[in-house]
Amino acid sequence: MSDVLRLERLEKSYNRGKPGEIAVLKGIDLVIPRGQVVALVAPSGAGKSTLLHIAGLLDTPDAGRVVLGGEDLSGAGDRRRTEARRNELGFVYQFHHLLPEFSAEENVVLPQLANGVARGAARARAQELLGRVGLSGRTAHRPSAMSGGEQQRVAFCRALANAPSLLLADEPTGNLDPGTSDTVFGVLMELVRETGLSALIATHNLELAARMDRVVRLEAGQLTEA
Ligand code: ADP
Repeated sequence: MSDVLRLERLEKSYNRGKPGEIAVLKGIDLVIPRGQVVALVAPSGAGKSTLLHIAGLLDTPDAGRVVLGGEDLSGAGDRRRTEARRNELGFVYQFHHLLPEFSAEENVVLPQLANGVARGAARARAQELLGRVGLSGRTAHRPSAMSGGEQQRVAFCRALANAPSLLLADEPTGNLDPGTSDTVFGVLMELVRETGLSALIATHNLELAARMDRVVRLEAGQLTEA
């Protein structure tokens, strides 16, 4: 059981059965082995977000299966899906979505408290993660007192707070200037490598894609190895 994620024959359409029906995913297969970092490259509108939402258990396919850590979660109830999302998945978006009224540390502590971790242990883990991304001196800062690159590094720590097995990221450095994007992406890759995480990272940046283990391209509803 070394595959972290298996997507099998996924299909998804919007406005099904109506005149404006759009078939976005037309039979997607993807297997991500443990420790592998996969770049997802797709032209705008190709269905990248739809695919990430389905893999992240935030949406359901019309057909096909989502198997996470060997467990088929396609037909699972809301409770099990929420639990799997919390324990096994980490999410990073283009915009950090940090809670503005909380410090960097609190932003990394809160998801752990929601998962039943004691506050002391949660704080220790937050400090450790923030230290790894070079933010030891910034843990008490609120997001508004941090640069864009720093905010995104906090978002990485938050995504990893509950030690997920799979990281899903949608243009994680897309909102940063090219130089900062490059550095912050390097930090993310180090963090992923150190923790042995698997990842599916959507990006338009082909240079960043080339730094991952494997590149897949989503186009016309199909996924191909690039
Ligand atoms: P991407 O993230 O690659 O830009 P999306 O997954 O957001 O693409 O969308 C893929 C296609 O599906 C687009 O044509 C989009 O307009 C359409 N789409 C996305 N969400 C919906 C929705 N809720 N209802 C109808 N059409 C949608």
